[in-house]
Amino acid sequence: MTNLIKQITNGRLLKNNGSWMYCSQCDKTVGYLCYSTYLQFEFNFKCNCGNVGNFQLSYAPEKTFVQGAADLKQNKNRLCCPNDDSSLIFYCR
Ligand SMILES: [Zn+2]
Repeated sequence: MTNLIKQITNGRLLKNNGSWMYCSQCDKTVGYLCYSTYLQFEFNFKCNCGNVGNFQLSYAPEKTFVQGAADLKQNKNRLCCPNDDSSLIFYCR
């Protein structure tokens, strides 16, 4: 496994590569990353306090990814895998 590359703007992660995502301005949660088994993850947020930020995590920066055939399924405030419906990301609103 290659090293994790993190580019986080105006936010922070509770753990190294997943778990709760926080707004850096008000320290409230903006989302929850369920898994740490991704190759690439990108999450843009606008917090209720007005802060705008971005999480970009990648284990494979040398690869280029193609858009999946299906978008992630939305179930309330969860984004789920289109193949097996497992929850991937929770976002706060
Ligand atoms: Zn905030």
